[in-house]
Amino acid sequence: MIPLSVPNLMGNEKQYILDALDSGWISTAGSYVARFEKDLASYLGTAGGAAVQSGTAAIHLALLLSGVKPGQEVIVPTLTFIASVNPVSYIGAVPVFMDCDDSMNMDCDKLEDFLKRECTKTLSGPVNKRTGRLIQAVVIVHIFGNMADMERLKAMSEEYGFHLIEDAAEALGTCYNQGKYQGKFAGTIGDFGAYSFNGNKIITTGGGGMLTAKEGSTLEKARYLASQAKDDPVFYTHKEVGYNYRMTNLQAAMGVAQLECLEEFIRIKEKNFEYYNNAIQSMENFELVPFNRKARNNRWFYSLFLKNSALDRNDVMKQLRDKAIETRPIWQLIHTQKMYEGCQTYFIEKAPFYWSRIINIPCSTGLLRKDMDYIIEALDCI
Ligand SMILES: *Cc1c(COP(=O)(O)O)cnc(C)c1O
Repeated sequence: MIPLSVPNLMGNEKQYILDALDSGWISTAGSYVARFEKDLASYLGTAGGAAVQSGTAAIHLALLLSGVKPGQEVIVPTLTFIASVNPVSYIGAVPVFMDCDDSMNMDCDKLEDFLKRECTKTLSGPVNKRTGRLIQAVVIVHIFGNMADMERLKAMSEEYGFHLIEDAAEALGTCYNQGKYQGKFAGTIGDFGAYSFNGNKIITTGGGGMLTAKEGSTLEKARYLASQAKDDPVFYTHKEVGYNYRMTNLQAAMGVAQLECLEEFIRIKEKNFEYYNNAIQSMENFELVPFNRKARNNRWFYSLFLKNSALDRNDVMKQLRDKAIETRPIWQLIHTQKMYEGCQTYFIEKAPFYWSRIINIPCSTGLLRKDMDYIIEALDCI
């Protein structure tokens, strides 16, 4: 089977993990944790980072630090992985679901319409007219590594006064190469950025995440909340409910090694995308979804659009599976998942269309030229 996306562990992973083991520091206090935070922050050009157990934990902390309270609302995309939305529920807040545009990222026109028509502007932020609830934050996702329209999103967050959380779990390394935010990375433009180092992400620590924010003091608070909000290390006093979210030294050792390879991984992903694209663009049935032209995107996942409406997505997947090629459809839309069925939505039209017409094709950095040729040939036969 040619897998969809598997880790590439050809760097210093083993060396650093053995070094961490030899030091005896295997839990959350070792030196690799601070080093990984420092290395990632310096790569991204941010104030710092708080290393945590997962991208989900990073999003949860971002919502808490944005001041999201039970009963408030958070606008989220429907086309995303469930981890962008579940942390809203952890807090007892309520998601409002937004459509995507042709880039599969949140539709900024619809978001603006919603804020204009369906909300009242107040000093604390937009209030949803239908429910009377304050919209404390918007979570946007850079889907498959493709830079969302941060110029418009940031302008709206300033005009309407909501916190802007970037779920950059899939977009580490994606950065603007022109425009107002030239040189800025996905995850560093809004109030918070959340990254994931799960096994299938562009770099991995097995499982892990990182929260970034504009101010060091906010990140101090994040580390505090992630360590059970412990006020005294000897007497174990606490004055609020915290979480056990800190990253371990073994994970961080791996993260340091993987980060050293990130730019190389992106170069490979760019090259492989171009290779696929050259072949696929002449096919009648398929095309690859393009990435944001204003950015150097990390090209984490390659999305194959089924141009021919007579093609059935599941059937295409099955034909490829029969040839030992693993593909995956887009996640089931979140507003149709059982626990979110009753939530407010706003003209969701494009998300179901793309959901039914896109599959992701193998994109690991270890992919061989002959694997891609084989996949291209298989597509050409459909
Ligand atoms: C992977 C991912 C996350 C977080 O995942 P974890 O497994 O918790 O690290 C969040 N959002 C998106 C869009 C993701 O792809």
